[in-house]
Amino acid sequence: MMMPTDNHVHTRWSWDTASSSSMKLACARAVEIGLPGLAFTEHVDFTEWSRQDSAVLTGPTGPPVAELARIAARPRVTPLDVEGYLADLARCREEFPDLRILSGIEAGEPHLFPASVAAVLAAGDFERVLGSLHGIVYDGTLTGIDNALFAGLDAHEMMRRYFADLLVLVEGSSVFNVLAHCDYPRRYWPASRAGGYAETDFEEEYRTVFRALASSGRALEVNTRSPLASVDLLRWWWQEGGEAVSFGSDAHQPFRVGEYFDRAVDVAEAAGFRPGRDHFDFWRR
Ligand SMILES: [Zn+2]
Ligand SMILES: [Zn+2]
Repeated sequence: MMMPTDNHVHTRWSWDTASSSSMKLACARAVEIGLPGLAFTEHVDFTEWSRQDSAVLTGPTGPPVAELARIAARPRVTPLDVEGYLADLARCREEFPDLRILSGIEAGEPHLFPASVAAVLAAGDFERVLGSLHGIVYDGTLTGIDNALFAGLDAHEMMRRYFADLLVLVEGSSVFNVLAHCDYPRRYWPASRAGGYAETDFEEEYRTVFRALASSGRALEVNTRSPLASVDLLRWWWQEGGEAVSFGSDAHQPFRVGEYFDRAVDVAEAAGFRPGRDHFDFWRR
C-alpha cells in the first residue's frame, strides 16, 4: 500500500524548530519509511501589522489595525529566510532525486496579515500553502492558544470562538490551498476539568467551516500531531462537499516525518477517500 506525501513538515528554517532538524535528515527519514514525497511548510508568522495589512483590513482611510487589536508578544518569531530555505531545498532535490520535495509555507492567521503573507509568497515559488489558526483575538489581543488561554475561558466557549475565527479565516483568505489542523486547540483541551474532547459537541461548527472550505475547492488536512481525526469527522467533510484530503505529520523533528500515517490512511479510507491520480496528489473522494 502506497503511503501519501507528507504535506506538513518543519525544519530548522522554522522559527520554532531546532537547528538539528535539517531538511536532509527529514528527506532521509521520508525515504526510509517509504513516503513518495514531502513538503517543507515552514512557519510564516508576524509580530506586527504592516501598513499594507491595515489598508486591506480597515480600508485606505480606516484606522491602523494595530489600534483595533494588539498582537501578544512573540519574542521567538523571526521572518522566514526565503533565499536560504530555497537553496537548501534545491540541494535536497539533487541529493534525493527519487523523492518529490515540495516547497511551501504554513501561514499563521493569513486573513489578518494578507499583505505580509503575499509579500513572502511573492519572494519564491511555493507549492503547498497551509492556512493555520494558532491564535484568537482575546481581550483585544491576538493571543496564541495554549494551556494558559484555556485556563481563562470555559473550554467549550474557547472552541466555539476558535471555530468562529476559523470560518473568518477560510472565508477571508484565499492564499492557502490546505486548511491545517482544523481543531488545533484540542491539543490543549483540559480533559481533567472539561471531560474528554468530543467532536460531536462541535459538529455544527465543524460542518460550517467544512462547507466554506469545500465550496472554495480546497483540501482539509489530517494532522497526525493533533489527536487523530475520527472517521465520522472526515465523513462530515465528505458530506459537506469536501473533495480532497491532505496528510500532514506537522513534524518538527526528522524522526516524526510521516508519523502515524498508517492510522491516518485507514481513517481517510474508511471515510471514502482514495489516493489521487498520482501518489503525490491529495487523496480524493
Ligand atoms: Zn500549525
Ligand atoms: Zn505546523
